[in-house]
Amino acid sequence: MRLRNVTGSREVIAACDYVIHEPRDCKGKWHEVFGNDSPIRIEIGMGKGHFIIELAKQNPDINYIGIEKYSSVLIRGIQKLETEPLPNLYFIRMEAEEITSVFAKGEVERIYLNFSDPWPKDRHAKRRLPSREFLHRYDEILIPDGVIEFKTDNHDLFQFALEELEPAGWEIVQMTEDLHHNAQMMKGNVMTEYEERFSSKGNPIYKYVIVR
Ligand code: SAH
Repeated sequence: MRLRNVTGSREVIAACDYVIHEPRDCKGKWHEVFGNDSPIRIEIGMGKGHFIIELAKQNPDINYIGIEKYSSVLIRGIQKLETEPLPNLYFIRMEAEEITSVFAKGEVERIYLNFSDPWPKDRHAKRRLPSREFLHRYDEILIPDGVIEFKTDNHDLFQFALEELEPAGWEIVQMTEDLHHNAQMMKGNVMTEYEERFSSKGNPIYKYVIVR
């Protein structure tokens, strides 16, 4: 990583080779960016990136992109990659509402949403990442049999997410209200930072896997 002599996270990110700085220019060209035809999986709201970095390490034949809104959070992911760069992982700092400007139709094979912000006020429902508004955006960028995996410890957010499925044209493939006690769905589970924090407090973790 090339670093200029600056301290702000925006500047550190601007100098980082693992961050795609003009993601709109990559729309329809992500396979060229990675230099291969492997499937592309993205995490929206990756936080400090523990989950997606671990997946990228475990699955060198899959390409990963971590998306995060805040520089101050993304920087922690970059710092982790500094010690161990991964050719199949890039980060983007962006607002997820812009997702269809960054990925073309059918360019993404799978989307991960982990411990998304709950936005508890009704008038903010559209901002929730599993809302129907977002499901329509995901519909635009996913391959026909593309999958969304969503985990949270927030009961109300999970209930909301379930209610959004039918109106948006999605259906459940797998679902649990206690992931950590569901042997089948725990197979290969990679814990996120929030998942470690909340499950260690004894909170059950909700998860669904959905398709159209
Ligand atoms: N996935 C991580 C972090 C969860 S916290 C984990 O499970 O540990 C939710 C993260 O999503 C925060 O870092 C927040 O900044 C980011 N986020 C929330 N809404 C977003 C949006 N609309 N676009 C991009 N990132 C978003």
